[in-house]
Amino acid sequence: MISALALHRVATTFVANKISKSYFRTISKSSSDNSVGINVVVEDDMPIKIENPYVKEKRECILCRLGIEPDYKNVRLLSQFQSRYTGRIYGRHITGLCKHKQMRLEQEIAKAQSAGLMGYWTKEQEYVKDPKLFDPNHPFRPHKY
Ligand SMILES: [Zn+2]
Repeated sequence: MISALALHRVATTFVANKISKSYFRTISKSSSDNSVGINVVVEDDMPIKIENPYVKEKRECILCRLGIEPDYKNVRLLSQFQSRYTGRIYGRHITGLCKHKQMRLEQEIAKAQSAGLMGYWTKEQEYVKDPKLFDPNHPFRPHKY
């Protein structure tokens, strides 16, 4: 009797390896009253649902994260994005801002300069020692020059 049951099991596994999975399931269901072990193995073989580990983290620029809208009257903030030596506005690869905020920043800086609140060629002396939001020597996106 025992050897016959073992033979039956060997035969079913052999057949299951040879043929498709759907047929294997029907076999295991039909022989569930004889052997519980096969049913458990089939349930363990089912794919486990997990979160996608390759989802990219959403990047936000510093102005979006803090909810700051550039304004021409906020000269202290605008000066952070201006070079101390040439008065030029740093590019997006250095500031790390999103396209929209960089555009708004440049508009507001131009407005502040035409209003006489900000210098064209230099940064105001009182803002030179402010803590830096980014390092111009180590840009977010590397470039050739
Ligand atoms: Zn942004």
